[in-house]
Amino acid sequence: MTYPVLIIGGGLAGLTTGIELSRAGIRVLLIERKNYPHHKVCGEYISNEVRPYLKKLGLDPTLLGAAEINSFRFTSPRGHILDSPLTLGGFGLSRYLFDDQLYQLAKASGVEFLLNTSVSEVHWNEDHFTVQTAAGDEYKAEVVMGAYGKRARLDRELHRDFMQQTSPYMGVKYHIQYDFPKDTIALHNFRNGYCGISAIEDDKYCMCYLTERSNVKMYGSIPEMERQVLAQNPHIYTILKEAKFLYDSPEVINEISFAPKKAVVNHILMSGDAAGLITPLCGNGMAMAIHGGWIAAQEIIEYYKKHRNRKRLEDGYTRRWNEQFSTRLWVGRNVQRMFGNETLSEFALHFFGLLPPLLRLVIRNTHGKPFITS
Ligand SMILES: Cc1cc2nc3c(=O)[nH]c(=O)nc-3n(C[C@H](O)[C@H](O)[C@H](O)COP(=O)(O)OP(=O)(O)OC[C@H]3O[C@@H](n4cnc5c(N)ncnc54)[C@H](O)[C@@H]3O)c2cc1C
Repeated sequence: MTYPVLIIGGGLAGLTTGIELSRAGIRVLLIERKNYPHHKVCGEYISNEVRPYLKKLGLDPTLLGAAEINSFRFTSPRGHILDSPLTLGGFGLSRYLFDDQLYQLAKASGVEFLLNTSVSEVHWNEDHFTVQTAAGDEYKAEVVMGAYGKRARLDRELHRDFMQQTSPYMGVKYHIQYDFPKDTIALHNFRNGYCGISAIEDDKYCMCYLTERSNVKMYGSIPEMERQVLAQNPHIYTILKEAKFLYDSPEVINEISFAPKKAVVNHILMSGDAAGLITPLCGNGMAMAIHGGWIAAQEIIEYYKKHRNRKRLEDGYTRRWNEQFSTRLWVGRNVQRMFGNETLSEFALHFFGLLPPLLRLVIRNTHGKPFITS
């Protein structure tokens, strides 16, 4: 049989699209490499721009014990502090809980799942796709959505431009217990990186940082790099000394690329990080994945219900994706240049300290407005 829609990857983008399509009566097969629940490298701060939408979907962050976050602390590598209110704000919830809750909603909505299954190849055959798994099984689909995250072997198969270059960035995440205001997200800068800390459910905190692999290479191991580099920022020093670390070892990912990507590749509609990853300091990659997943679903629903042709589907999706996200990605990439560099981030702290409206403008330009669907 040929599925109307096959989604590769069950993170926030894939699950959102799956739920929307199933509820609109369109049959969906979602193939996910892992099982639920699972941990992911992510700062776990979710912008309130998606809160009304999530509630409408049936997921209420408050009922899940999410932390309410409405203030921002920025520290420079030398430990200087700048505090600012977060106008829109957000909430803290672990991916372990968040993705699993969306998965439960998707299952209840009728999405069909193949878990612990990795997609290895996708072929376009003029009017349908053949999707092959690593185990050698094949599935046919009329529409395929690539929601498989930042980087996958599939990107190499598809000859995507950003795979031609290596990326220096790596991400490291822990869950910790620590004494810190629950309503504040802190962004602590250090040489070649920055580290976010904010509360999640159950009196826990997420500590997640982005750095360059060269930092680890220089010091031989992650713990040694943390002692020698991150701990130069006195706020991170205190956390490393006083916090209780809840994992045996951190979650780590490599080769995080912020290079621009295309929203449609070989007729596959890319969504979430597979379409473009915003720099983590903006704290809204998750909101963008959910919003983008919703846009993809609306375009696919129109394609089926209004009998549109494939070109209109692909062009319409690309246009809406770019309108919604291109500027934010660009601003995010440029703001990130100021961070991790000791001199520039000291300068940024003093500059934004003198001009708080400018800081609020930057925050506004990397975020969207709350999106509410009819
Ligand atoms: C260090 C760091 C910190 C961040 N902090 C924040 C933050 O605080 N707030 C925020 O909003 N955003 C943050 N982000 C960004 C955020 O994590 C992502 O934007 C978001 O997870 C994107 O969701 P997604 O659905 O596109 O991808 P993902 O959530 O990564 O989901 C992709 C899914 O696809 C599956 N998959 C991969 N390959 C295959 C395959 N071949 N076959 C089948 N399945 C496959 C994976 O197992 C995964 O479940 C951060 C990112 C980084 C790197």
